[in-house]
Amino acid sequence: MEHLRIDIHGIVQGVGFRPFMHRQVRAHGLCGTIRNSSSGVVLELEGERRALEAFLEELPHKAPKLAVIDRIEPAWGGAIQGYAGFTILPSLVERERNTLISPDVCICEDCRRELLDPTDRRYRYPFLNCTNCGPRFTIIRDVPYDRPLTSMGRFPMCPDCEREYHDIENRRYHAQPDCCPVCGPHLFFVDAEGRRTEGDEEALALARDMLKTGKIVAIKGLGGVHLACSCDDPAVARRLRQRKQRDEKPFALMCRDLDCARQICEVSADEARLLESYQRPIVLLKKRAPGLAHLSENGYLGVMLPYTPLHVLLFGDDIDRLVMTSANLSDTPIVYKNEEALERLAGIADGFLLHDREIQTRCDDSLCFCVDGREYPLRRSRGYAPYPIRVERGRSNLLACGAEQKAGFCLSKGDYVFPSQHIGDLKNYETLENYEQQIAHFERLFDIRPEAIACDLHPDYLSTAYAKERAEREGLPLVQVQHHHAHLVSCMADIGLKDPVIGFIWDGTGLGTDNTIWGGECLIGDANGFERFGSIRPIPLIGGDLATKELDRVAYALRGEAGLETAENPLFETMLKNGLNCPLSSGMGRLFDGAAALLGIKTLASYEGQGAVLLGAAAAEDEAGEYPFEMEGELLRFDWRPMIRAMAEDPADTSRKAAKFMNTLLAMAAEQAEAASHKSGIRDVVLSGGSFQNMYMLQRLPARLRARGLQVYHHSRVSCNDEGIALGQLMILNEAL
Ligand code: ZN
Ligand code: ZN
Ligand code: FE
Repeated sequence: MEHLRIDIHGIVQGVGFRPFMHRQVRAHGLCGTIRNSSSGVVLELEGERRALEAFLEELPHKAPKLAVIDRIEPAWGGAIQGYAGFTILPSLVERERNTLISPDVCICEDCRRELLDPTDRRYRYPFLNCTNCGPRFTIIRDVPYDRPLTSMGRFPMCPDCEREYHDIENRRYHAQPDCCPVCGPHLFFVDAEGRRTEGDEEALALARDMLKTGKIVAIKGLGGVHLACSCDDPAVARRLRQRKQRDEKPFALMCRDLDCARQICEVSADEARLLESYQRPIVLLKKRAPGLAHLSENGYLGVMLPYTPLHVLLFGDDIDRLVMTSANLSDTPIVYKNEEALERLAGIADGFLLHDREIQTRCDDSLCFCVDGREYPLRRSRGYAPYPIRVERGRSNLLACGAEQKAGFCLSKGDYVFPSQHIGDLKNYETLENYEQQIAHFERLFDIRPEAIACDLHPDYLSTAYAKERAEREGLPLVQVQHHHAHLVSCMADIGLKDPVIGFIWDGTGLGTDNTIWGGECLIGDANGFERFGSIRPIPLIGGDLATKELDRVAYALRGEAGLETAENPLFETMLKNGLNCPLSSGMGRLFDGAAALLGIKTLASYEGQGAVLLGAAAAEDEAGEYPFEMEGELLRFDWRPMIRAMAEDPADTSRKAAKFMNTLLAMAAEQAEAASHKSGIRDVVLSGGSFQNMYMLQRLPARLRARGLQVYHHSRVSCNDEGIALGQLMILNEAL
C-alpha cells in the first residue's frame, strides 16, 4: 500500500474533471480524495504501487474533452491515511482565485439527443446543457464560478435538477447552468408592434414563420443578438444591408449541418472538423460557384454550424441556411440585452426571438480560415475567450492595451496570458466604454492588478490614451511598443518561438520609430528589440487618411511616382508635386489598395483592407508569372515603380494581373528574406500583420521561403491583424521590466 499525491495544473475546473476522476480512480481500484486548488486540482490516492503507476501513466491521455492539462506533478511516499472509497472534498477557500474559466461550448451530442427525444423531460427545451456543454464565460458575473454569481442565479433548481446536480454518476453533476423547462429560462417573441408572445414553442413558431417568409428576425444567442434572415433571396439580404448600414461587408451564414454547407461551399475534411469543433467558429470557406454575391462579394463565405439548442430547434428539418450577422449598427458593439435589442433594432428587425437568461459579457462569433488543418484566426472570440495562452517565464500583473481599430487587450498571471474577446473599433464611444469595462471584468475574474502597462507608439490611438492616463493615475511604468515589433513578437508567442526571428510584418498602418507610417516591413528581432532590415518604397498618400477610402488617390500617386501619364487632376498634381498633405506610407495595405484601383477592381473602399481582399479574390489561381522589380538602399526597400510600369503595359486580363502583382511581392519577400538571413544567420521567419489575411499570399509565401532553406511560421491562436497585437506588446513589456 502506498500514498501518491498528484497536483494537476491546467483548465480542470468546471469541466467535469472531478466526477471523471471519480470513475477513473474506481476503475483502477484505488481510494482517496480530490479537491480544487488555485491552479487546478489535487488528488490524494492510496493503493498498490502497480495500480497507482498505471493510473498515473493513463492520466495525461484521459481527460474530459474541455479539460486542458498543462502539468502533472506526482509526489510519492506520503503518510498512509487509510481512505475508504473516493471523496470529493469541498474547495478550500484560498486567497488566490482559481485561474481559469471555460469558454462557451456548443451543444454536446448527449444534450442534442435529449433535445430531440420525445420521452426526455428536456424534450425541445431550448436551454438544456450539461457539464460538457453550454454557456460559461458569457453568463459569469463574478468568481468563484457558482450558479448564484451567474445569470442562472435567478433560476433556483427544481428538485429533479437538484438531484442530478448532486449525483456524481450524472452527466450534470455540478453543472452550474443546468436547468429544465420547470426551473429554467424561457423564450418569448416580440413583433414589430411590440406585441409579446410567451412560451418556447409559440415563440419559436413565430420566428420560424417570419424567417420562411422573407422577414428579418433578431435572435438572442450566447454572446449577443444576431440578425437572421433567409439567405436565398437577394432582396431580403439587401434590405438587411440597408437597414444595418452595412454596405459591402460579407454576411456570415449558419447552415443546418455540414451537408447544407457543402451545397454552397467546398468543405475539406479539416474544415469540417473545425466547423464541428466545440468552439463552432465561423469558418471562411471557398464558394462552390461564383454567385451569392448578395452574401459575400469575394470568393469566400463565412459559415458556422448551430451551436445552441435554440439554433437546433430554429432550423428544425426544413430550414437549410440563414444569414446570421451580429446585431449592431455599423461600428457599435454587438447588442446583448433585451431592452437594448427592442429599442435599437426597431426598424431593422421585423420580430424578436428573446429569452430571460441574461448575457453578462458580450462575445461575438469567432472567425477564422482553416490553414494546415487548424484555426487561422481573424477574430478570436466566442468559444476561445477567455482561454489563456501559456508562455514561459511569464510575469504576473501586466496589461497590454492593443491597437485601436481592431482592439483587444491582454492581461497576465504567471505563465498565463489572457487575451480578450473581440472588442471592435475604439473610435466608437460605446466600444471604448466596453473595452474599459472588459479590462476591469478580466482583472476581477482572474484576480489581476496591473503593475505595468504596454501600449502602441501611436499617440492618437484611444488605447494609448487609456494606457497613459491609467499609468499616470496609478503610478505604473508604461512601455510604448512599436506596432510592427508587437506584431512580430505576437506571432513568436503564438507559436512559442524564443530565439530571434526574421519577420514579414505587412499591414495597413502603424507608426514607426522615425515617426513615419510603416507597414511593409521586414524586421529582425525578438521580445528584446528589433532591427528594421527591409521595407517598401514609401507611397505618398494624397490627402492623408482620405486615401485609405478613395483608392484612386493611391493609384494616382503610384502612377505619378512611376513616371506614367496620370489622369488629368490638377489638385492631385499640385499636392503630389509639392508634398502638400501627402504623408508618406510604407504600408503594404496601401500598395494593395493602389493595385486594386489601378486594375479597376475597387476605387472606393467601404471597409479597411477591402482592396486587398478583392484583389486576392480576383487573382487567377494558375502560374501567371510576375513583374520586374528592384531593391534599393541601405534599408532594403522594394522599389515598386518598375512593377507599376510593367503592369500598365501588360495586356493580360485583370485576374492574371492581380496574380502577377502578388507574385511580385512574393518574389520580393524571398529576396529580402534571403538577404536578412545571410546577414543575421537566422533561418526562422514569422508572418504577421493584417495583409496576411490574404490567403493567396499566406498560402504561397511559405513555399517560396522554404525553397530558400528558411523555416516559416504563421499565427494559429491569435489573429495576424491588430486584434493580436496586445500579446506581442505584453511579451515585450515582460522583457523590458
Ligand atoms: Zn451537453
Ligand atoms: Zn429543473
Ligand atoms: Fe497592424
